[in-house]
Formats: sequence, C-alpha cells, structure tokens
Amino acid sequence: MRKVTSEIPEEIIELERQAMRRVYEMEEKPASYCVVTYGCQMNVHDSEKLEGMLKEMGAAPAEDREHADFVIFNTCCVRDNAERRALGNVTWLKELKKTRPNLKVAVCGCMVQEPGMVERILKQYPFIDMAFGTHNLFHFPTLYEQMILEKRRIIEVVPDSDENIPEGLPVYRSSPYQAYLTIMYGCNNFCSYCIVPYVRGRERSRDPKRIYDEAKMLMDQGVQEITLLGQNVNSYGLDREDGVRFPELLESIDRLGVPRIRFMTSHPKDLSVDLMDVIAGGSHIAPAFHLPVQHGNDRILKSMNRRYTRDSYLEKVDMLRARIPDISLTTDLIVAYPGETEAEFEDTCSLVERVRYDSAFTFIYSPRTGTPAANMSGRIEEEEASRRIQKLIAIQKKITGENFAKYIGGTHHVLVEAPSKRNKDQMSGKDEYNITVNFDGPTSLIGKIVPVTITEAKETTLKGVLASEKAV
Ligand code: SF4
Repeated sequence: MRKVTSEIPEEIIELERQAMRRVYEMEEKPASYCVVTYGCQMNVHDSEKLEGMLKEMGAAPAEDREHADFVIFNTCCVRDNAERRALGNVTWLKELKKTRPNLKVAVCGCMVQEPGMVERILKQYPFIDMAFGTHNLFHFPTLYEQMILEKRRIIEVVPDSDENIPEGLPVYRSSPYQAYLTIMYGCNNFCSYCIVPYVRGRERSRDPKRIYDEAKMLMDQGVQEITLLGQNVNSYGLDREDGVRFPELLESIDRLGVPRIRFMTSHPKDLSVDLMDVIAGGSHIAPAFHLPVQHGNDRILKSMNRRYTRDSYLEKVDMLRARIPDISLTTDLIVAYPGETEAEFEDTCSLVERVRYDSAFTFIYSPRTGTPAANMSGRIEEEEASRRIQKLIAIQKKITGENFAKYIGGTHHVLVEAPSKRNKDQMSGKDEYNITVNFDGPTSLIGKIVPVTITEAKETTLKGVLASEKAV
C-alpha cells in the first residue's frame, strides 16, 4: 500500500480566504491582471484557479498583457523551448516596467519548481516581483497580499508533501460549457526523460465524493463537456484507502449524465480491462483515447522506464478496438532519444503504421537537467533528429488524411465553441473524437452539441453541414 495522501486542513484554506477578503478591501492593489499560460491542460486549469482567486480579490482581466497591472506567467518546463519562451517573454516585460514602474510581474508553475530556478530568479531576474511553485499555488492570496503590503519581492517555493490537496478555493472557468476537473495531482512513474515527477510531486488523488460533487455542480450549471485531468488518470485512487479507482470514478460520472466526458492522460501500463469496459459500456464517455506510446522499440521503451513493451501496448490497442470499434486513438512520440539507432527509429514508424492513430504529437527529445536521460550518452545530432521527425510527421500526416477521409458521410456530434478562426461565417467545435469540425451555422449554436454530417476532410480538421439545428 502506498502512502495515503490527504487534503490541506480547512483552517489553512480559511486563512487564504481571509487574505482574499483583505486584499479585496484594500485600496492600493493591482486592478487588472493577465495570466499567461504555457504547457498542458493541468497548467491551463491551474491558471483558472489563479484567475478565480484574483477575481475574489477584486482584480479584473486586462484587455491584454501590455495593459495589465499584474502579469503572471504560469510556466512549463517539459521541454527546453517552452522554458526559453517563458523566460523570453518575462524578460520582455522588464522593458515595459521601465515605462510603467507600478507593473507587477509574477512567475509560477513547473519551471519555478525546478532545482536551481529560485536562485536564478533571485540573481538574474530582479524585476520579477513574485514567484511560487506548483505545491503552494493555493497560498497565492497570502503571497499577493504580502507583495502589496510589504512592497518587496515575494519568492516562495516549497517541496512536495503528503498533505497538499487544496480544496475549497475559487476557480474561474472562462467557458460556460467546457470544464477541466482535476482528479489527481503528480506522477510516480519517473519516465527517464520527464521532469514532471520532480516538479509536480508524487501522485495525490482527490476525494471521489468531491470530484463527483464538482462534476454535478458543473452539469447543473449547463456544462456540456467535462475533461477529467491527471498526469496519469489510470492510477487514480492507488494512494487512497476507499478503494475507488479510475474505472469506478468514471462510471459514476458517466451515470450523472454529463453530456460528454473526456479524460487525460493515460499511461499504457495502467490501462486496465475494467477501464476499457467502462468506456465501452458508458453513455457519455467520448470514444477518443490519448494513449502516449512515446516509442516503438523495446530497448528504448525500457531505457525510458515506460514499463510496457511494444507488444503489450499493441495488445491493449487491439483490446480497446475490439470493445469500441470506432475509438479514435492519438498519441505522443519522441524521436532522437539518446542512443536511438536508425532501426530503432524505424520501429516507431512501423508502430505508427500499425496503430494508425488519428493524430500524434511528435517531439524531438529534449534533455531536462536532473532526469536520468539527460546524462545518457548517444546524443543524436540536430540535423539527424530533424530528418527523423520530418519522416515521422509525414507518415502520420498520410494516415491522418486516410483516417479522416473515412469520416466523410458520417454524422458527428460537435460541441460548438466559436466562429472559425479562418472564416467568421463558419462555426467551429470538437466532435466526439476530439477532431475540430467547421460548418456553416449561426452563433446561437455556441455551447450546444449539434449533429454535423462530414463532407470534407482537411489536413487536421473536418468540414461538414449541420444535420439538424436541434441540439442533441
Ligand atoms: S507518466 Fe512519465 S511522461 Fe507522464 S508525467 Fe509521469 S513521468 Fe512524465
């Protein structure tokens, strides 16, 4: 049995609520804010929590970051370029501060939690007014109050602890019909290339009753789609004593009647037959599964510490397809992992051809200091890495085209999000397979799930016509 984790005591959360009330009543405080988010859905949802707290403290969203009184960069460090982009943008604000000395700048998120980053911020980024990590995001109201009252920089990064599931703080969800719902925090897997367990800490699962109640509240508010979030949702509940695991949790939310449920991310090694059966038997669970394989070669998978083989992964793919024939599969792939030979890279290509994903996120391996892979020999030259990724992208592009062509003539159910970016007369949204579909329709459909008959397959999207204006 793993160590049991627990919630942050209510008295501590109450102190944060009190800090929010005090800031609200202060006269001198940043009036407008801008939260700039990098990285994954977890970070997007963390930014919604920050916005919830900022609004409670009386701040309003700024038109853009140039006009905000307070800018927070919620950072990512999964890849080197995400980190460089965040630091580049923070540095850009240094110039703006020269003309607007009252502008306050904060950084938070995964990058801040990296070893050595606090020292770097203290020395190299004197214009950053506030920094905090992933484990004390809930403490933001107190830090914000200190920054204003004490008129000094506030840098506070704390390590992971067992008692750190924050509950009862406000969340601002900008979409009234789509919502992220965190079911667990952290990761225990320590894949050799990944920094997440070091910056997000060990797995901590939220109380299933709280998750259920939050899903019900969202449904009652009219939310059409809930995405359950966790670094590895398939190991939900292993740190809890109540015996509720991810399949039961998902089933209970499906029974609630939320029109559409998604979840991410799933580690293949923990994908159980029970979960496949729940998806197959569910009424509202979208038939779209993101199952990151990362590589197609057993030696590399072992070196990555993924704890499955090519064959066991493919077996799970086949089992999923046997139960849910129309399931749309997507994945993440890494090329140029240290020591990857041409033949090993070809194994990734052949796996992609065998599985025929609807789409894939492809990445060139990016060394992250502190992870085992960063010290491995056999670095692949940039030019060669680029050749490999281009080849893989071309293979996937062809498969995506062929898969999408098969959707023509079918009716998909699209949650309408907004007018299309390219053609304002068209509506755009995601279908049950998580594919963007564009079609002619009125803006009154925004926020509804409508049937759309697919007429055309584009490179990464589908085009269709409204089958009926009646929402389903
Ligand atoms: S499962 Fe592996 S890749 Fe995913 S967050 Fe955990 S360590 Fe990183």
